[in-house]
Amino acid sequence: MNLILMGLPGAGKGTQAARIVDEYSIPHISTGDMFRAAIKNETALGLEAKKFMDAGELVPDEVTNGIVKERLQEADTKNGFLLDGYPRTLNQANALETNLASLNKSLDAVIYIEVSKDILMERLTGRYICSNCGATYHKINQTTKVEGVCDRCGGTDFYQRDDDKPETVENRIKVNEELTQKLLSFYSERGIVHTVDGEEDPEDVYTNIQNILATEK
Ligand code: ADP
Ligand code: AMP
Repeated sequence: MNLILMGLPGAGKGTQAARIVDEYSIPHISTGDMFRAAIKNETALGLEAKKFMDAGELVPDEVTNGIVKERLQEADTKNGFLLDGYPRTLNQANALETNLASLNKSLDAVIYIEVSKDILMERLTGRYICSNCGATYHKINQTTKVEGVCDRCGGTDFYQRDDDKPETVENRIKVNEELTQKLLSFYSERGIVHTVDGEEDPEDVYTNIQNILATEK
């Protein structure tokens, strides 16, 4: 299954992606995670991306398209993939279509997680992440079952993202809002968009996603 998970920052893409890739055994391709790994490893890509990420702006299309193109050529995408946070612009959506066509592939579904803007702010500023496996939690909504221990991998080290500060969060939502609507129109024309209510509990959101994916198998 070749899937895209769409939604504004904080909609719950990472939270649902972890469940989808665990159940369907497809790689999770998150451009945000790829950029954060590059920053951590102090690569040239990381240095380039950091300036944009710190301001809540998008990394330029040619850089982003390049890393996804390479990633989609890796062997683990043979039986499918889950793109999270890509594409974010129409240029990226067109580049993806061209890349997939050259690989004799196409998209099966776009899952759009819909959450109203006022909720996103509170979600992002309370987010914390397991340093070992990337599982996402929230200091009020979604804490670990055992305090300080990751439910998914047992890790005990967590971090908050640099771009989850209130000043940056506001700009990130603004930058993505209009583009998200354009992308939804782009994929609606292709008849592959499925919208789920992202304001329900994570378990219920996931049940709705499972029901959608059951029709794609
Ligand atoms: P995204 O990847 O779309 O930016 P995340 O999956 O990281 O979003 O979720 C953002 C924050 O909201 C995290 O702190 C997460 O724990 C919390 N969260 C995710 N889904 C839900 C939900 N359905 N209800 C309440 N909080 C949620
Ligand atoms: P995310 O982890 O998806 O919230 O992304 C974090 C940041 O990484 C964004 O605010 C952008 O600066 C950058 N980024 C991630 N994905 C993309 C993309 N597809 N296009 C441009 N920038 C991106």
